[in-house]
Amino acid sequence: MTTSKKIMPDTIDLFGMKIHAVDMPAAVSTVLEWCQEPRQGACRYVVTPNVDHTVMYQSNVALQQAYDKASLVLADGAPVVMASRLLRKSLPERVAGSDLVPAIFEASAEQPLRAFLLGAAPGVADRAAAVIEQRWPGVEIVGTLSPPLGFEHDERENERILQSVADCQPDLVLVGLGAPKQELWISRHAEKLEAKAALCIGATIDFLAGEKNRSPRWMQRLGLEWVHRMASEPSRLAKRYLRDAWVFPQLVWREWRGC
Ligand code: UDP
Repeated sequence: MTTSKKIMPDTIDLFGMKIHAVDMPAAVSTVLEWCQEPRQGACRYVVTPNVDHTVMYQSNVALQQAYDKASLVLADGAPVVMASRLLRKSLPERVAGSDLVPAIFEASAEQPLRAFLLGAAPGVADRAAAVIEQRWPGVEIVGTLSPPLGFEHDERENERILQSVADCQPDLVLVGLGAPKQELWISRHAEKLEAKAALCIGATIDFLAGEKNRSPRWMQRLGLEWVHRMASEPSRLAKRYLRDAWVFPQLVWREWRGC
């Protein structure tokens, strides 16, 4: 696991994952610190487990390997943080990718940032870029790319993405390809990705573009963001969340029993 020499946050073991016990300000300063340092060997990257990722992680070996190589593992899901407290392995707070990105951009007033948006449907990343540059003038979106369906299996397409990023020399790549595609892609290409840091951020590009709406704050606080997402995309997400609602409590129970 690649970690910053200056900041080495503690991890807790939860559901087989090693999750960094950091709050939002510490996560922001860690990523900003990477963005100021010269790139060392591979692009450092951040993964953000929520309930669905946690369930996938149990049986997906490639995802487990991608997590092992991540420099920062942040608890995105409120139920993951609640479970950590129940299991007396208390994580300080939820650090969702969709909150981390604006918090990092907020700091660009003092530390200008060059960012590249990878993912979302055609046109969406460009709309997000316009919103970002207007809201946070310290952020320059140096490139956007919406790879075609199935790109991850096409070596020429992967090379094209890596070349586009190399041409733009961003500090930060926001990878919004959905899980586990984004984690597997970044883990496979981190050595060649010419950026200082990358964040796996799911639908954050859609949220920034106004393409999808996040749940109201009160739902986020109560750990109900998934209910809002399921209601807004029932045909895609209902089966997934029903499976998660069945499996996740069993994982908590197993961890509680220590087996
Ligand atoms: N996405 C993409 N390319 C793909 C698959 C997904 O750009 O091959 C984008 C999709 O357009 C959306 C995001 O990935 O912007 C999916 O985010 P979400 O958090 O909904 O993913 P999940 O992990 O929940 O499926």
